[in-house]
Amino acid sequence: MSQSVEYRFECPECAESIDVNESMKEAIQAHGCVVCGTPAPDGAFQP
Ligand SMILES: [Zn+2]
Repeated sequence: MSQSVEYRFECPECAESIDVNESMKEAIQAHGCVVCGTPAPDGAFQP
């Protein structure tokens, strides 16, 4: 039973806005924004 939690990621650098699930959130936190590679602060993710 895995329920996917979704977040809205908004990049503070390039203003990219995408919906992400938990694993994508972790990937962005690990590797940065998918578009510009800027490290994502925790506040960039909104439930
Ligand atoms: Zn970005």
